Amino acid sequence: MRIARFAVGDEVRYGVVEGDPAGPAGSRNGTGTDADADADASPSGLTVAEMSGHPFGPAAEVALTGARYPVADVRLLAPVLPSKIVAIGRNYLEHARELGNEPPAEPLIFLKPSTAVIGPADAIVRPDRLSQRVDFEGELAIVFGRLCRDVPPGRVPEVIFGYTCANDVTARDLQASDGQWARAKGFDTFCPLGPWIETDLDVTDVRLTTTVNDEVKQDSSTSLLIHDIATLVSYVTAVMTILPGDVLLTGTPAGVGPLVAGDTVSVAIEGIGTLTNRVTDSD
Ligand code: MG
Repeated sequence: MRIARFAVGDEVRYGVVEGDPAGPAGSRNGTGTDADADADASPSGLTVAEMSGHPFGPAAEVALTGARYPVADVRLLAPVLPSKIVAIGRNYLEHARELGNEPPAEPLIFLKPSTAVIGPADAIVRPDRLSQRVDFEGELAIVFGRLCRDVPPGRVPEVIFGYTCANDVTARDLQASDGQWARAKGFDTFCPLGPWIETDLDVTDVRLTTTVNDEVKQDSSTSLLIHDIATLVSYVTAVMTILPGDVLLTGTPAGVGPLVAGDTVSVAIEGIGTLTNRVTDSD
């Protein structure tokens, strides 16, 4: 099931996306020449069936109101508003090495603020007065469905609501100069999420592709995660309580690189869909 959060006029709703998104990951490497169509996060033919209430928390249930909208006629929003985003650094070997690091023996965790989250229709804003190097990082994101703490690896599936695409946008120059990552990872707009949450997916080996202006920059598989999802969730929940709707970014594969104003960046994950954002400068 694909759960979207969307706006119709000023009204914000959750809904179930129905229809076939026409090969969200694979099709992006095809012969498409229409940049506008490729940048469209609302594939034609999809509809969204409106839910009453929201899908998170112990009392949540998927009850439909009966209203349906073409996805192309609504504004897709970030599919969740997390209280926090926990992220994992250096969790693909080739990415760790491309930045001159060896992978850590234990998961390397950091936080991104909730205010960094944007949706598929929003722009990544480069803080160009403070940073001269802003990078994309395509990542698989876990969306949690339950409050939890100290989750043993064997029970991790019970607390995961689903998965979405994320871009862990990073001011690479500030990451190096600051010595810790709060500023580099924390600017407004630095956590695009979407286009929706897929709740029924085996993510042990799914393809992840990041393109900039339709040029493939990252092309990898979640099978190459150094620390797998059960390990990551167990490790993180030994530290902090996870709330319903919180998000965990699982790390980026090799191929990271810069974004400039005017770029269009897409993170496509097989079985989920494609998250596309345009890039602007702050001035
Ligand atoms: Mg990252």
